[in-house]
Formats: sequence, structure tokens, C-alpha cells
Amino acid sequence: MAEVLVLVDHANGEVRKTTAELLTIARRLGEPSAVYIGSGIEDAQGVLGRFGSHKVYVADSPEVTEYLVAPQVDILADLIEKTSPAAVLIPSNPAGKELAARLSIRCESGLITDAVDVQAGPTTTQSVFAGSYTTTSSVTKGTPIITVKPNSAPIEGSPAPAEIVKVDTAVSDAAKAAKITASKPKEQSGRPELTEAAIVVSGGRGTGGDFAPVEAFADALGAAVGASRAAVDAGWYPHTSQVGQTGKQVSPQLYVAAGISGAIQHRAGMQTSKTIVAINKDEEAPIFELVDFGVVGDLFQVLPQATEAVKKG
Ligand code: FAD
Repeated sequence: MAEVLVLVDHANGEVRKTTAELLTIARRLGEPSAVYIGSGIEDAQGVLGRFGSHKVYVADSPEVTEYLVAPQVDILADLIEKTSPAAVLIPSNPAGKELAARLSIRCESGLITDAVDVQAGPTTTQSVFAGSYTTTSSVTKGTPIITVKPNSAPIEGSPAPAEIVKVDTAVSDAAKAAKITASKPKEQSGRPELTEAAIVVSGGRGTGGDFAPVEAFADALGAAVGASRAAVDAGWYPHTSQVGQTGKQVSPQLYVAAGISGAIQHRAGMQTSKTIVAINKDEEAPIFELVDFGVVGDLFQVLPQATEAVKKG
């Protein structure tokens, strides 16, 4: 069975949930092999094995980790040449997409970005034009290189040996043209990362700047907090929390929009969510056109009651 390479998304050995999703998807296409770049493999190996990694290709050297994405392209291009994989799956985040684009040019292979589903073939599904069309695509040349959005597959375990294979980390001088001079981790909010969260609760102009009920409901559900552009432009919530066409694209299992009208630019960032719930005072609000469940009411009354119910739950 052909290997399927999965680029591991991790922070010093702490493997992110998207990697488990990619490994689950990889099993539909062939035999998953993780590609682990950086330090901390001792902490990560168990998780990678639990989700079906037969091999783990490890590249841990300053040659690779002290530079931006270009050295990782050298590592992956070399692995593609040596293993002829059925596909390469990469997380759909900014670094992943840059890496995938460079890799596809290097290997003269087709590239598909922002897949929300990948099935045998591989055939991918994407949501395009601000979510108004769903397309299916497949790569017609070379090794399929696919970036996959978070929450694109329910995680399923499948134990495998996760045999460590150290890879050659000598990279070209050209790949070392841009060096990382400093990095510091983001301050932790205690909430999940917006684009990876299984549940997102967002607030809009209807909050009037008071996000407390939105945050309380999110915390009761273990959810991330998002915001509409109107709310972030008003300075009520950080720009990094904006959901939409010019903000973050989210696709959680559950998206709750509180005091958000449902403008097309907001929908573009959330309408591939599996279940959508809205709370809005105006029963004519466009958001109600796309919800699975809608509450016509004041968010300052509805959210505290919902929070209580979840806590009792
Ligand atoms: P509003 O449209 O003002 O809606 C507020 C809603 O709250 C109303 O429906 C109201 O009935 C309801 N409400 C009021 N009080 C309460 C209450 N107490 N309880 C319950 N409901 C209440 N927007 C984004 O969100 N993300 C983007 O990425 C984005 N990108 C854009 C890019 C471009 C180029 C442009 C032109 C616009 C973009 N916008 C984006 C802006 C977008 O068009 C809307 O202006 C914005 O989404 C509106 O935010 P809102 O729904 O919070 O506010």
C-alpha cells in the first residue's frame, strides 16, 4: 500500500488536533506516515502512533528549524522522491499553504488548498466563492499535494507502530535565505484556538461591546470566541478573533452567532460549520436563512439561560 505523507502540526512535541484529523483522512488514501519537523518527537510519537502513523520521518536540526518554511520544502521534496507517496496532506494554515505552494512547484505536482473533505482517489471537496459553491477536485499531475482545513474529519484512532526514521537534514543554501531571529509563544487565553475549535461562539454588534455573556457561554461549552468585523472594528474584541471573508475561516461542529446579522462577508468565514445556531432580536435577520436552529430573542437574556442549562447539564 502506498504511503501518504502527513505534515505534523505541533508546538515542541504537543501535537495539534488537526494532525489527528489528517492522519484519519490519510488512512482513506493509503498507509499514513507522519513527517515531523522540529524537536519534541519523544512527546509526540505516542499520539502519532495512536492515530495510525506507520512511520514517522523526523527532521530535527537547526538547519531546518531556524529558518522559515523553505528548508521544510527541501525535506518534503526529498521524501516525495524517495517514497512516491499517494498524497501529501498539509494543515491549511498560512505556513502550511506557503509550504504546499512551494512544494508543488518544486515537484511539478498539482496542488489543492483548503479542502474540507478528502476521500479515496484522492478526491477533495472545497467551499469556494465565499461559500456559495461547493466544488470537488482531484489532482491530475504528479503527487497530489492537499492542504486540509481543521475540523474536516471526525478523529478516529487506529494504533500503528510509529517507527522513527531520521531523515537527512542537509538543505540547500537557497532554502536558508530567510532566518527566524526571534519567536515567542502567543499569550494563552485558556480557550481553544479559533480555527481549530470544535465549537465557536461569536458575538457581533448586538453585544453592544459587552462580550461577557458570549464568553461565559463559550467557556461553559469549552468553545473558542469569535467576533464579527463590526465588533472588532469597534475595538470590542481583538482583530485576531474576526470571523469572515477578511478574518478567519472556521468550520466547527457547532457555530453560535449572537447579535450578528449574517452579512455575506461574515458567512464566508463560517457557513461550512456543521451546525449553525443564531440568537438575534430581529426575526428578519439574514443569519436565520442559514441556521439549523434559531432563537429570536435578546442575547442578554438567552445566553445566560443557555449557559446555566449547559452547566447544569
Ligand atoms: P450588524 O449587521 O449591525 O448586526 C447586528 C445584529 O445584532 C442585528 O441583526 C441586530 O438585530 C442584532 N441585535 C442587536 N441587539 C441584539 C440583542 N440584544 N440580542 C440579539 N441580537 C441583537 N464582516 C465580518 O463579520 N467578517 C468579515 O470578515 C468581514 N469582511 C468584510 C469585507 C469587506 C470588503 C466588507 C465591505 C465588509 C466586511 N464585513 C465583514 C462587514 C460586514 O459587511 C458586516 O458589516 C458585518 O458583518 C456586520 O457585523 P454584525 O452582524 O455584528 O453587525
